Amino acid sequence: MNNNRKLIELHLIKDNKISEIINADEFANASERLLKLQLENWVQLKKGYKSLATVKTKSFWYSGFKVLVQFNPGRLKSTSAEVDKESINERECFLCAENLPEAQKGIGILRKYLILCNPYPIFPEHFTIASLEHQPQEILSSFEDLVEITRKLSAKYSVIYNGPKCGASAPDHLHFQAGTKNFMPVEDEFNYLKNEYGEILTETSNLIISAVDDGLRKFISFEARDSKLLNEIFYKFYNVYTSLNSNKEEPMMNIISNYEKEFGWRIIIFLRNKHRSSHYYLESKEKIMVSPASIDLGGLCIIPVEKDFKKVSREIIAEIFYEVSLFQEGFVYLKSALKKYFSG
Ligand SMILES: [Zn+2]
Repeated sequence: MNNNRKLIELHLIKDNKISEIINADEFANASERLLKLQLENWVQLKKGYKSLATVKTKSFWYSGFKVLVQFNPGRLKSTSAEVDKESINERECFLCAENLPEAQKGIGILRKYLILCNPYPIFPEHFTIASLEHQPQEILSSFEDLVEITRKLSAKYSVIYNGPKCGASAPDHLHFQAGTKNFMPVEDEFNYLKNEYGEILTETSNLIISAVDDGLRKFISFEARDSKLLNEIFYKFYNVYTSLNSNKEEPMMNIISNYEKEFGWRIIIFLRNKHRSSHYYLESKEKIMVSPASIDLGGLCIIPVEKDFKKVSREIIAEIFYEVSLFQEGFVYLKSALKKYFSG
């Protein structure tokens, strides 16, 4: 066993009941129990959930949908994280087994990832699913895993992915997050948004691809029952989306992934233009500290600073979301390219 494997072994939770539940392939129940046990044994996590219990929320209504704004001081480190190469090289990776707090334990999944409790929760139940290896955040090689993990956790949780340049606080270490299902407004509003603001790009008996622009956000969605088909479609989408870039980098995206036994998968891919909007860089009085990622664009916008929370308005949120979303020409191009691709 190599050193990393030994370290990972130390962080696997030892609990007979969890082993039993995992053997029955009930990863959502196992994760729920993990959280319960970790809340008893890991002080930092307990503190995080205590802080979550005191968060303030306000809601802004747009035409037929809403954005909740959550004042959550526990997220300050994550929201303000410097994710440039230099800053990343200077810090210890907080997702590598060698740097996990001694009390932090997890559950292995797909033999490639560790389900861990997130000590700075946003959801009533919030997990980080970290790769066992220290490897860059990258969707092309991990989409298949995202799809499978979504199914395994689907009884209770939605799974999200943040691109390395648009929200991932560890762009150097592959990870997803999982949180309480239907906690982000977009999950309930999806069909409304699709009908009201969407365009169906292709529809067959086993696949629907839609493009939605609600004035704040732009996203592409896939609804499919077959995971193999879903992986193929994502690969095609990725190629088209990448062609908008002049460089070879991963095109910016945030993903919210859901699964229901009856309907299959529903993947929402928010298309991005920037990591942070201009509001983040304004002088202190005007500054609004928001680093939009999946959860924010999903309609649950996190603000870690109280004065910003007090100041933020319906209009400012709309501006921030609009600014970080893919530019109009890009969206129009993408839609027509995808239509052509999938009809041909
Ligand atoms: Zn790492």
